[in-house]
Amino acid sequence: MPRPLIGLTVHPDDDPDRVNLDQLLAQIIQGVERAGGLPTLVPLGLADETLRDLSARLDGLLLTGGGDVDPARYGAEPHPSLGGVSAERDRTEHALVLWATRTAPRPLFGICRGAQVLNVAWGGSLYRDIASELSGAIQHNYLAETHARQRPHAIQVAEDSLLARLLEQPLLNVNSLHHQGLRAVAPGLRVTARAADGLAEAVEVPGHAFALAVQWHPECLPEAPEQRRLFEAFVEAAGRHAAQRAAG
Ligand code: MN
Repeated sequence: MPRPLIGLTVHPDDDPDRVNLDQLLAQIIQGVERAGGLPTLVPLGLADETLRDLSARLDGLLLTGGGDVDPARYGAEPHPSLGGVSAERDRTEHALVLWATRTAPRPLFGICRGAQVLNVAWGGSLYRDIASELSGAIQHNYLAETHARQRPHAIQVAEDSLLARLLEQPLLNVNSLHHQGLRAVAPGLRVTARAADGLAEAVEVPGHAFALAVQWHPECLPEAPEQRRLFEAFVEAAGRHAAQRAAG
């Protein structure tokens, strides 16, 4: 069976957090390769038609971490804490998400910003800054690079979810490198993990073969079998999609 082709979204070259994002992207590439997938990067700046044609060749879409989504996309004003906003990245990922979840469904895996992009593309909104907008919030922004391998807070996983089947434990600790999070969850999405303060830590598209996005960074925890399993299951789902396409 051919190895599935996995498209990874990218941050712009001028992102203020580029050094860290380069490192996270390198770990995601490794995660996909180790899981048996063929990772390829989807560049920014493509015309709509080119993006659509490239999308059609992919067996799976992986939304990577990065800067903040423009609040205008969910009807909110700018906020002093915003960083790394890129209209071109928002445009590219918005189109890719709707394609992979609605127009031509195929496996989708979102990491950190990826969960936020999925929610906004489906009509939800974000906390522009958790610490100042979510009362009773625990700390989520362990942004120093040294924190990526630590797991400062727990998540509770929803029963009867894709995530529960993959992680095989209802309560576990994860890393947390985000200052934004899901506010209004979009109609049609299901929250399948939450932190102790109620913040969504994972969302899924019910009825989709594999559409899962997590707020933490599994690529930074490759020594954890349950975190590797997320990559493996995503690539397996993409492999099934590739086989179906080859057969059909
Ligand atoms: Mn968190």
